[in-house]
Amino acid sequence: MHSPKQYYGVACSYLDITAIPNPLPKFLQIIIASGLRQVFTYLPASTDSAKQEQPMPAIGCRVLVPFGRSQRVALVIGHSDHSDVAEEKLKPILEVLDTQPILPEHIWRLGIWASNYYQHPQGDALMHLLPVRLRQGHNNQLISRFWQRNGNDGNSPPDLSRAPKQQHAWQQLLSLPPVFSELHLASVELAPKDIKPLLDKQLLKLTQPQQQLVSANVHGDKFSLNTEQDSAYQNIKAQLDQFGCHLMQGITGSGKTEVYLQLIEACLEQGKRALILVPEIGLTHQLLERLQQRFNNPLLALHSGLTDQQRLDAWQQASLGQGDIVLGTRSAIFTPIPDLGLIIVDEEHDQAFKQQEGFRYHGRDVAIKRAHDANIPIILGSATPSLESLANARRKRYQLHTLRQRAGGASQQGYEVIDMRDYPAQAGISARLREVMQHELQAGHQVLLMLNRRGFSPSLQCQSCGLTVPCAACDTSMTLHKFPARLHCHHCDQRQSIPTRCPSCQAQQMRPLGSGTERIEEHLQSLFADYPVHRIDRDTTRNKGSLEGMIEQVHTGQPCILIGTQMLAKGHHFPHVTAAVIVDADSSLFCGDFRGPERLAQLIIQTAGRAGRASLPGTAYIQTYQADHPVITTLTEHGYDTFADMELQQRQLGLLPPFGHMALFLVQAKQEQAAYSLLNWLQHQLTNPILAKATEELQHFGPMPAAMARRANQFRVQLQLQHPSRAHLQNLCRHLCLLLEQNPDSKKLRWSLDIDPQDMA
Ligand code: ADP
Ligand code: ZN
Repeated sequence: MHSPKQYYGVACSYLDITAIPNPLPKFLQIIIASGLRQVFTYLPASTDSAKQEQPMPAIGCRVLVPFGRSQRVALVIGHSDHSDVAEEKLKPILEVLDTQPILPEHIWRLGIWASNYYQHPQGDALMHLLPVRLRQGHNNQLISRFWQRNGNDGNSPPDLSRAPKQQHAWQQLLSLPPVFSELHLASVELAPKDIKPLLDKQLLKLTQPQQQLVSANVHGDKFSLNTEQDSAYQNIKAQLDQFGCHLMQGITGSGKTEVYLQLIEACLEQGKRALILVPEIGLTHQLLERLQQRFNNPLLALHSGLTDQQRLDAWQQASLGQGDIVLGTRSAIFTPIPDLGLIIVDEEHDQAFKQQEGFRYHGRDVAIKRAHDANIPIILGSATPSLESLANARRKRYQLHTLRQRAGGASQQGYEVIDMRDYPAQAGISARLREVMQHELQAGHQVLLMLNRRGFSPSLQCQSCGLTVPCAACDTSMTLHKFPARLHCHHCDQRQSIPTRCPSCQAQQMRPLGSGTERIEEHLQSLFADYPVHRIDRDTTRNKGSLEGMIEQVHTGQPCILIGTQMLAKGHHFPHVTAAVIVDADSSLFCGDFRGPERLAQLIIQTAGRAGRASLPGTAYIQTYQADHPVITTLTEHGYDTFADMELQQRQLGLLPPFGHMALFLVQAKQEQAAYSLLNWLQHQLTNPILAKATEELQHFGPMPAAMARRANQFRVQLQLQHPSRAHLQNLCRHLCLLLEQNPDSKKLRWSLDIDPQDMA
């Protein structure tokens, strides 16, 4: 077993352990994931402990402490010789879990910055940076194994002529660094079992990890970049040694990923590693494949599909510099990576980068801070950049690189807006769409339909009294599912059987109202009986491999229909699709969130981007009852940039982000009145004369019900603050949090603060 000390001996520069004061401090200040904005004081170690004497933990070490009636894992955040609490009331810690700080200093600082910026309790925020196993107190001994070739490499090659498999493995090993891990083995398509015979023959031995020098190891073919790609590439490459935020705006298929790959190569050539963030796990698989085709360098993926143990392993290996390219979803931004030289955030506009519960950080924004502090470049890539990023590019805070051409000469799509007022529709499919689909399928093409609503129908309605069956715990109706048949609340997960009578008037006239993906699938199966219909949503892809299975079938190129939720609009390449359809544009247009138009525009462009990727020209069809809505006409006639200009002007008038800054206090309570009274009280605090200067330009709205006014039996009430100055808003929120903490009523309720909220629900 490797001791933690060896583990850290080779990793990046960690917090200086010599920072332990001499003489030893009397008290330890620690933080715990307790939801409290509080630093606790403990005594270093029990003197009457039966255990052997514990060392003084450095700042950044985990310790086990008694907390209330339980034991908790905590982080040491300071040493002190003074305590506000009488010494005899203090408890000693139970155990020191680490001999060295668990995080490198730059990640520790990034965590502290993020907890301050998002005003989330420090204990919760910093614990969040650790893999679950480490939060639970699991020791940090290395999981992965490391090997070394024994003795004189290459000089006298071992005679393996009678064992061709071993011979092959040995040859492959010669291309690896002197000390290699399972990751390196994977990069040459070997598994530990393949080298076991070599280990038995003592040609290899187990050893300690070593920090390796990084160098590019490219094996796949690369494209020669077109003019636009090359200009972005050259420009960023020339600035690899310094911080810069690069917004790469390129339509789907314009070759952004190819530019990333070549810049990663340039970064590796400089002896530095690269980190790539994608919004969701499905995209990690695709990108990982492309990285594997291009690089022999060891790759690491961190995402929610890993077990806790695998995640700890990946995290440890990343910390040790074993992954030259690290790829992951949101939380991977906090992964320690020595000698990081480049960060890429793909699909930077995606809402999934914002954590919506608990520690509500924005992965993209934390990434920019990390790149800034490390003085390295960051690339934000998207076909439809967020309006925040576009505004930053227009203010010249970000450098803009635009890719307007589809790489490889694929043709670009056109739009057709289907005005639903002009065509009769059945189960959400207009007569015009039906005609288009018939035509495309007969021509041997594929059709893709996007509808962001899974289930059969969003509600079940009584034809006699008009009631839609509500969820008992939430302020919403139950979604009707046919496979398996049930009513299901998508907000609190309650399920019930489908009633045949109306729960209110007892009439036996229950009918589905509106269409979800299941209903469209059923309808299309009856309309186009000769063609397979593939439904891709959370219900059909729950089983491992089912998504891949369907995508494989689609890739055979046979005419077929794809119907799915947002999942479908993200990243996948469907070269045989010639018609991409937004089944219902209106639901996003009128969702009540000021970001509704932006989200719709992004959805339309992203969905349209699925069509006509190969040599076939494609068209995007938009079904709407608002065919002359300026968002739709501007977007389809003039494109995303003109839409963005128009939308940014609207935002400027309302001082909405990015022209103003927002914070949202949310209170959840069983009693609606309790939530209101706490927020009313909070709002009243804003009238305090000492805040006069900070509140001068403040706008506040509420307390008011959240978009989802009741969820899982909790009333949800919010107070929205808006201010042109980020600094003023930050200070105000900090002040309000302190006041809330001191208010005894706040302890009986759940309250949270969302800085830069992305979702007004
Ligand atoms: P994006 O990431 O912008 O969607 P990709 O990098 O995936 O675009 O490129 C789209 C397709 O074009 C891919 O199949 C890619 O291999 C190909 N491609 C990219 N750059 C070039 C190029 N310079 N010449 C030819 N084909 C290219
Ligand atoms: Zn519910």
